[in-house]
Amino acid sequence: MADNNQPVLEIEDLSVAYVTPSGLVSAVNDVNLSIYPGEIVGLIGESGSGKSTMAYTIMRLLKGDAIVTKGRVKILGQDIYKMSRKELREFRWDKMSMVFQSAMSALNPVMTVETQIVDALQAHRKGMSYREAVARAEELMDLVRIDRKHLKSYPHELSGGMRQRVVIAIAIALEPSLVIMDEPTTALDVVVQRSILDEIKKIQEQVGFAIMFVSHDFSLVAELASRVAIMYAGRLIEITPSELLHLGEKHHPYTEGLLRAIPELTADEVTIQGIPGYPPDLQDLPSGCAFHPRCPYATDICRQVRPQKLKVEEKLIECHLFSEKEAVEHV
Ligand code: SF4
Repeated sequence: MADNNQPVLEIEDLSVAYVTPSGLVSAVNDVNLSIYPGEIVGLIGESGSGKSTMAYTIMRLLKGDAIVTKGRVKILGQDIYKMSRKELREFRWDKMSMVFQSAMSALNPVMTVETQIVDALQAHRKGMSYREAVARAEELMDLVRIDRKHLKSYPHELSGGMRQRVVIAIAIALEPSLVIMDEPTTALDVVVQRSILDEIKKIQEQVGFAIMFVSHDFSLVAELASRVAIMYAGRLIEITPSELLHLGEKHHPYTEGLLRAIPELTADEVTIQGIPGYPPDLQDLPSGCAFHPRCPYATDICRQVRPQKLKVEEKLIECHLFSEKEAVEHV
């Protein structure tokens, strides 16, 4: 059992780049983030912000054209980039696991649900008999609220929501300390999405693992997570407790824009204010603060100097609006 004061995940000064014919393109820059046992942390960002690259980096699942150029990823105190392939194979799924965006591509279409869960269990628990593994698979089906009879089903015989529940069951089968969920409900309709999120929360409270929940859906993450990390152009530009995520609080202008973009369903008229412009091209980032072309508060210093991360009350924010005086400390 993890020590509650020791982070399950420690990301230190992490930078990741893609190797392209025109040179290295940075996708993740100078990221620092820790997640503690039992905590749910949301990672928010638009497409191309670097959030999925970060999720894959944590799992050490980056494809050949992506490389870690700087920093460390430690899970339960162990640097996963210093592990041998064998150590990593044993560690992955046992101590950390991942729920991918597309359940269909994560499951093997020609194997029953039972075989897939049993295989995952027996690959890591050498002494576990088939009968014991099936008993555990039944428990997992109960946990994700799928009828046990579907252990005999093939993935194509299940609905999209059920398939995603099976993927969650496999991810938590070995009781890992950390589960990375990369847009796990994006492909599902809103009603199924809601019931799966409620399920995730219940299971997490019951089993106690930590979650990094990656999504572009701001309101959904704010509801699920206790802290939210907001990514823009490969940088974590704000990390904030979820309960402070509302207009009226001091936020990074990008966070403020995301908050303004959430429709108010109780209002007479639904007005949504989007953020003007588009996310920047990672191959050609704006100078200074990468958000400056879209920011209503941008000044000369924003165009010239990249802001440092500062502690503003209980948040960490990377923006020149928060002066040295106002910030509690440099981070
Ligand atoms: Fe806007 Fe400047 Fe802050 Fe960047 S540093 S978010 S441009 S105010």
